[in-house]
Amino acid sequence: MTRTATPVQKNDKVFVTFEDLTHDGAGVAKVDGYPLFVPYGLPGERAEVLVTKTKKNYGFGKIETLIQESPDRVEPPCPIYRQCGGCQLQHMTYEAQLDYKQKHVEDVMKRIGHLSDVPVHPVIGMDEPWNYRNKAQVPVGERNRKLIAGFYQKRSHYIIDMESCMIQQEANDIIIQSVKRIAERLGIRAYDEKSHRGTLRHIMTRTSHSKNEVMLVLITKNEQIPHKNKLIDMIKSTFPQVVSIVQNVNPKQTNVIFGNETKLLWGEEYLFDTIGDVKFAISARSFYQVNPIQTKVLYNKALEYAQLTGEETVIDAYCGIGTISLFLAQKAKKVYGVEIIPEAIEDAERNAKLNNIENVQFATGEAETVIPKWFEEGVRPDVIVVDPPRKGCEESLLQTILEMKPKRIVYVSCSPATLARDLKILEEGDYQTKEIQPVDMFPQTMHCEAVAMIDLI
Ligand code: SAH
Repeated sequence: MTRTATPVQKNDKVFVTFEDLTHDGAGVAKVDGYPLFVPYGLPGERAEVLVTKTKKNYGFGKIETLIQESPDRVEPPCPIYRQCGGCQLQHMTYEAQLDYKQKHVEDVMKRIGHLSDVPVHPVIGMDEPWNYRNKAQVPVGERNRKLIAGFYQKRSHYIIDMESCMIQQEANDIIIQSVKRIAERLGIRAYDEKSHRGTLRHIMTRTSHSKNEVMLVLITKNEQIPHKNKLIDMIKSTFPQVVSIVQNVNPKQTNVIFGNETKLLWGEEYLFDTIGDVKFAISARSFYQVNPIQTKVLYNKALEYAQLTGEETVIDAYCGIGTISLFLAQKAKKVYGVEIIPEAIEDAERNAKLNNIENVQFATGEAETVIPKWFEEGVRPDVIVVDPPRKGCEESLLQTILEMKPKRIVYVSCSPATLARDLKILEEGDYQTKEIQPVDMFPQTMHCEAVAMIDLI
């Protein structure tokens, strides 16, 4: 095998200018066309970089000296920013983050979607881009006989104990801290991955934005929790805003956080939240958007793009607990929602009842299987809304949509790259993308959400 020489070798020092960012926020610089990925480099900056690793088509480096600093650079406010990795853009001003995300969407539309003329609006950001997350989920461990909980250090399973996280709502941090101390006082041990012993694996909290109530979920290895009643009492008396304590049992030696068994230990089975005029009951395992302020902005945009008059039949594919479906149902004749997780559909049905919304029908299953069946049964949607996970829509679903010919498609996406890929397929059929509105659901991170309006030509 012949080895083609790379333009730089490990331990070389090179002067570079950063041109772009990778999906995990590292600066990208090119040396004779060979990309070097360098953490914390910002576009436009010049730096002397130490090459730390080379592969055939790309390499990695580390900033030795920053020669020209970007005006977009700020001191990251979080003390554990570099260890954690949960945020990737804290070293950039918020305005620059929003600009970057807009350009990124435009860029992938051109590069992957071959769509150069689609207007991509400026990203709708937050007034206060901190403390926005309504859900925290942390691994629990032990160090020096004390319980710790926080995050895994980048690319490892070494737990860094965390007091607070700057993008979390404060209640989540405070409750996790306190549960840790209470469990420790009761002698409840953390689960140890290596020996597969101990009790407490993860702690999850979810806060209701509208009611300021909290659901606490303890993920344990076994069903038994030592001093369980005492634990519940102490949590209840410390935090009146905790309205629900749930246990999830995960007996497996696995990286997957949740096990199959979920049971209520105390209080309410659901957390209740309101977005706009719609109330939602959310169970422990259901997907629920993590940024409540921006979720309202996102759903309103999806509703606006759907341009409903009250006469339309709408399909909401990937509907989760029916959030978008119920938003749309207020303005449509009938909404069909489909989702793969049965518990989420149970939640969706309950949520419809909770709001006295009767013009919705939900089904459990894969969107790509259920929607063709609806088509066969004579369902003729005027509008289809899709909100798939990061991997985007199954191609077969897009083909079904092309056959169904709804007059409009609203695509809510958490991955600009798969959005662009899917828009290309729709554009090869009879559709045209009219406009794209990115919404910043995840400030300080590289994640980027966008809504696209796509019309039948
Ligand atoms: N629209 C909802 C959920 C979006 S997240 C909201 O805004 O809250 C994407 C959802 O798609 C998840 O609930 C996930 O369980 C579901 N999902 C993933 N693959 C699916 C598939 N093939 N068919 C239907 N739903 C799927």
